[in-house]
Formats: sequence, C-alpha cells, structure tokens
Amino acid sequence: MRVGLGFDVHRLVKGRELILAGVKIPYKKGLSGVSDADVVFHSLSDAILGALGLGDIGDYFPPQDKKNKGLESKVILKKALSLLKNKKINNLDITLISDKPRLKPYKDKMRESLKNLLKLSKDKINIKIKSQESLLPLSKEAIFCISVVTIF
Ligand code: MG
Repeated sequence: MRVGLGFDVHRLVKGRELILAGVKIPYKKGLSGVSDADVVFHSLSDAILGALGLGDIGDYFPPQDKKNKGLESKVILKKALSLLKNKKINNLDITLISDKPRLKPYKDKMRESLKNLLKLSKDKINIKIKSQESLLPLSKEAIFCISVVTIF
C-alpha cells in the first residue's frame, strides 16, 4: 500500500468557467490557469503521482508549454491514471476549501464524476467541503484543494 498527497490552489477571476472534479459549477467567477484550472483534478493527479513516486503534473504538462493552454484537466488526470499500470486506487479523500461559492450542493455530483472517471465505487471517494472562516487573506479569491490517495 502506498499513500500520495496532492495540493492545489487557483485564483477566482471573472470571465472563467468554474469547473471542479469535471463538474461545471454556476458562479460569477471561475479559476484562472493555463488549463481549465480544476483544482480537484490537479491535486488528485499530484496525489496519484506522489503515491507512485513519479514527480508532479508539471513534469508532464509544463505550464510554460503553449500546447497546454486551455487544456482540459481530465487529460492530466487520465495521464496520472495511465501511470498506475497494474496498480489500483484503494480510496481517495479530498478536501476542498472555499468560502464562496458554497460547494456543498455539488458534492455528490463531483463524487459521481470521479466515480465515472476512476471506475471506483462511491464509498471509496470522499469529498469534504471546508470554509476558510474568512481568515485567510485569499478567502474569497481562491479555491484550495488537498487530496490524499492510497494505491495498492
Ligand atoms: Mg493547478
């Protein structure tokens, strides 16, 4: 059994779609980034690579590479999944940190999306939504995500 941890944060800006775990969330802002800036897929992909001892997503998708502009983050996750080879994900635990928008109503949709992509039963996919209690200076300007994955 191996454990991997991934972290990601992106800034909320106007004029971008908000996509988390591949789910479009209706909101006046979206996350800025070279790709679609899906912090769930990014942190999860990094967690998988961490468990495999294979670096981080920047090694495979350098942000300065123009090819990666507008990239769907599903492609990044699929790359990480392909590197699992004969190994399997045992479970994953995701913590999303966001004051606004409130993400709780979308928790199940996100789990469903992950279930379909990872071919993993839903009881092995946990998502927790935490607020920043307006304490962090970026509390209304960014969404943070931490993912932990175990593989065997
Ligand atoms: Mg990212």
